[in-house]
Amino acid sequence: MKRLADFRNIGIMAHVDAGKTTLTERMLYFTGITHKLGNVDEGNTVMDSDPQEEKRGITISSAAITTYWKHNNNTWQVNIIDTPGHVDFTAEVERSLRVLDSAIAVFCARSGVQPQSETVWHQANHYNIPRIVFINKMDRQGADFQRVVKEIRQRLNANVLPVQLPIGAEDTFTGVVDLIKMKALVWNSEDGKTYDELEIPADMQTVAREGRNYLLEELSLLDESLLNKYTADPDSITADDIYTALRGATIRMEAVPVLAGAAYKNKGIQPLLDAVVTYLPAPVDIPQVSAMDPLTDEPVMINTNETAPLAGLAFKIITDDYVGKLTLVRIYAGTLKSGDTLWNSRTGRKVRISRLMRIMSDKYETIDEISAGDIGAVVGLKDVKTGDTLSHPDHPLLLEKISFPEPMIGYA
Ligand code: GDP
Repeated sequence: MKRLADFRNIGIMAHVDAGKTTLTERMLYFTGITHKLGNVDEGNTVMDSDPQEEKRGITISSAAITTYWKHNNNTWQVNIIDTPGHVDFTAEVERSLRVLDSAIAVFCARSGVQPQSETVWHQANHYNIPRIVFINKMDRQGADFQRVVKEIRQRLNANVLPVQLPIGAEDTFTGVVDLIKMKALVWNSEDGKTYDELEIPADMQTVAREGRNYLLEELSLLDESLLNKYTADPDSITADDIYTALRGATIRMEAVPVLAGAAYKNKGIQPLLDAVVTYLPAPVDIPQVSAMDPLTDEPVMINTNETAPLAGLAFKIITDDYVGKLTLVRIYAGTLKSGDTLWNSRTGRKVRISRLMRIMSDKYETIDEISAGDIGAVVGLKDVKTGDTLSHPDHPLLLEKISFPEPMIGYA
């Protein structure tokens, strides 16, 4: 059974044109291939086909795609959930933000913070979504990493902490300095599919040391055990100390790690995926979720674990040419199994779960169950709409308050 700690439910949020679609596609490409090969060594596997040539029956906008990433001898299941581009506080946006645990915020290295990105950022604050920043399009004319970092700090009032510095910009963007490992990651092929870990170039050593010091100083203010080490002997601080401190600060939303890349050129994707599993929270890091008892209207807290009574939220319905109607559900507690009979919060009636599926980047996979913290699809589910809670008939729950009544068509 998958450990709850090994899931990541992430969204990708961006201003239109920042590169969200390209980045999503590249993430699926890198993870999809590594999944098929079944072995990836620290993310620098040699890949043999071009993403453009990769055939996918499933479009990347299909609402929630499961993929896997290997890092540090562990395989992580990353569910990428489509986050609407529009920025109003509608039920749909609220729901999509609710079903993800964290996000990658993408900014264009040239355009930086734009009015719409401010709204999306504040919305993510409102819904307590920890995030990392990916400054994309580093290859573009006018790309300026430090300017965008400054803009995010000033205009979004976010404690952004770069964990990388780009090496070069525009045509000369060739890699990044990893300020935690203190190594240069330099892409070694035109298409950026593989990279070498090298010594930091001589002309960047000073700026890299300054960047690392800034990271350590800021992070020490947020993490006591790092502060103790920093005061005693900064040289005793290991990469793991920094990962731990930064992960904690990111999840508490006190810090936002920042990375750089050029999605279009396949640059920066592996380190970004490493950052997703390193810094962003697992469902288990959000141990309790608020719900309501529909009989008493009293709020109840439900525990994120596989053995609790079931609580799932239907958050999106899609139709596929091959499999038909798919209802996407996020499971907050318990385990949803094919064959289960569940209670639907909106209709008050029971529904039967026949077949369960997982949407992979290139195929559908039939599965037997979906456990707490995970996302999956129920095939051909009747009489269930987005926003409906599915729970055990003996333990009815309501995850989303129904704010407006159903229109009563034909009622007179
Ligand atoms: P979205 O609107 O945020 O989904 O952005 P898209 O992924 O559709 O990208 C918008 C445009 O930017 C497209 O023309 C992409 O080819 C281009 N683009 C995306 N990533 C990069 C990048 O890393 N470098 C450059 N130069 N262009 C990019």
